[in-house]
Amino acid sequence: KAMRKKIVAGNWKMNMDYNEGLALFSEVINMVKDEATGSQQVVVCSPFIHLHSLAQLGKGYANIAIGAQNAHQNESGAFTGEISAKMIKSVGAVYVILGHSERRQYFGETNELLAKKTDTALANDLKPIFCIGETLQEREANTHFDVIKTQLAEGLFHLDETAFGKVVIAYEPVWAIGTGVTATSAQAQEIHAFIRAEIAAKYSQELADATTILYGGSCNPKNAAELFAQTDIDGGLIGGASLKSRDFTDIVKAFN
Ligand code: PEP
Repeated sequence: KAMRKKIVAGNWKMNMDYNEGLALFSEVINMVKDEATGSQQVVVCSPFIHLHSLAQLGKGYANIAIGAQNAHQNESGAFTGEISAKMIKSVGAVYVILGHSERRQYFGETNELLAKKTDTALANDLKPIFCIGETLQEREANTHFDVIKTQLAEGLFHLDETAFGKVVIAYEPVWAIGTGVTATSAQAQEIHAFIRAEIAAKYSQELADATTILYGGSCNPKNAAELFAQTDIDGGLIGGASLKSRDFTDIVKAFN
């Protein structure tokens, strides 16, 4: 675990106008700049509108990076209203969330589409934070391992080793997102270990051991330390709690 990059990433979703976002990020920088050191990284995934300014504000802090929450699968062209990976990269973002359950649910994103988005993001030197996770019905039907296996196989396992090595995975059980219901640390650890085993079987143990796997779903300052202490949990993807600088910073500190 010590060898893997540890990440706490905030996902602001469709919140914060431009000025609110800049103010929040300034607070976060001041509060985490001395915390995120060594192999630990803080990532803020904002709406597209904020990316350029946040990247400027974050310049010079090696352990603070900016990410987008989505990118189009095509390089460029007649896709009115869409944003390309190249554009995101060009304003200084380093990461892009792909396959968030809200994109899968409300925008019909499939594993097949997400495989294309992953390729395009990587071709433009963006690191995907690739989200996977089962719904409540899938867990109750005891199909959660199959769902995870399929999402990995169809969304990511077409990549070669070098490309896969640039991907961060986020396990986000859909029933835990924005609900206040967190997976227990044992439930999360069980899936994280399963994901790592799938990577080992597909690629190698070495690559599996080097892959950062985040937990997401109602992570907060109270439960973060226990989640992050699990063997295969390398950090978190934080929704609601990333909108409050104090809560977000406390989650970052939960590593220590
Ligand atoms: C998310 O949407 O990625 C997420 C984890 O949300 P929340 O922390 O609000 O459950």
